[in-house]
Amino acid sequence: MNLQTTLRRRLARRRERDLYRELKTLAAAPGPVAQVDGRELIAFSSNDYLGLATHPAVIAAQQAGAELGAGATASHLVNGHLQIHEKLQDKIAEATGREAALVFSSGYMANVGTIGALVGRGDTVISDKLNHASLIDGARLCGAASLRFAHSDLGALERQLQRAAKSDGNILVAVDGVYSMDGDCAPLAEIAALCRHYDAWLMVDEAHGFGVMGSERLPIAGSVAAAGLAQDDAPVMMGTLGKAVGNAGAFIAGSRALIDYLVQFARPYIYTTGMPPAVAAGSLAAIERMQREPRHRERLADNIRYLRDRAAQLALPLAESASAIQPLLLGCEKTVMAVAAALQQRGFLVGAIRPPTVPGGTARLRITLSAAHSQDQINGLLEALAEALRAQRAVGA
Ligand SMILES: *Cc1c(COP(=O)(O)O)cnc(C)c1O
Repeated sequence: MNLQTTLRRRLARRRERDLYRELKTLAAAPGPVAQVDGRELIAFSSNDYLGLATHPAVIAAQQAGAELGAGATASHLVNGHLQIHEKLQDKIAEATGREAALVFSSGYMANVGTIGALVGRGDTVISDKLNHASLIDGARLCGAASLRFAHSDLGALERQLQRAAKSDGNILVAVDGVYSMDGDCAPLAEIAALCRHYDAWLMVDEAHGFGVMGSERLPIAGSVAAAGLAQDDAPVMMGTLGKAVGNAGAFIAGSRALIDYLVQFARPYIYTTGMPPAVAAGSLAAIERMQREPRHRERLADNIRYLRDRAAQLALPLAESASAIQPLLLGCEKTVMAVAAALQQRGFLVGAIRPPTVPGGTARLRITLSAAHSQDQINGLLEALAEALRAQRAVGA
């Protein structure tokens, strides 16, 4: 069939199912006030959990980084690897308590590249069913057998480990430390114990853990450190620079051997242009701020507590989550779109998350909090939300 006709039909089908996605064009990154179509909205949808994307000192460091060159001009292995990348990698290794770190252009590429470098035909990747799409795609593309287990179900994980252990290949278990659409944490201590028992390698995606949680000794290292685990327990740690760091790019942190190995074998690291020096400089400045200024993290924790307390008073059914991601499951795509539109009318931008990002029947509003939100803004959101849900119920949705 004609290409254009085929595309138009597929798009029409998506619209009919209330799954069509629209781009919103903002004038600047929300801080958390966002300008959308000339209107000011309070964004509860960004992953800039600490407000560092719009921090003047971070922006100044990034501008200074641009003096090193607008772009890296080549891949890291050719001539695109600068001292600023090394400094950033050393900082990440220190902050995560790992021997070394390697930066990637994006989290998607870090996950796909790392899984593809570590396992292949004859091996097995075991993934949580709610893993981020980039881990799922990494498992699909790497050529290994791919097994999945019900979300955070340790019994189901163990059954898959037993299955995988029947073949002689290596086993990689990949999980999100904090689930991106649910906000809950993986039971990492138990998962690490199972991996040890079955001689499987544990890879944890810290996209939503790095920068906002950790241990006393490593306060920003992420959910692995928060669970009391070290490099040997979860040898492959992935983190992004696009979430709490407020920038772009990602990293893998682990043993010196792991990092040396990825430089040799991770194709999405090797065959792509190096991270722009400004991005490395801005990310480095943001991580230094995270380390020196715990108040950003503390303010985020206060906002999480405040939102959950107020939501309980208003009987708003938030999912169980202790992280900056606070989903409100509504189930039906139409309802989610209607409530998100009503919130936007009242000046609030909240992510409406639908399949295929989440399983069918679990469409939700994904409220994300930042250290930069005020309690007034949180109150405003919750009141608008309570009203929008009442209006939905009145029309019988
Ligand atoms: C955002 C995200 C990624 C992808 O990171 P990017 O740097 O945005 O490509 C990977 N994993 C999880 C859990 C994420 O939330």
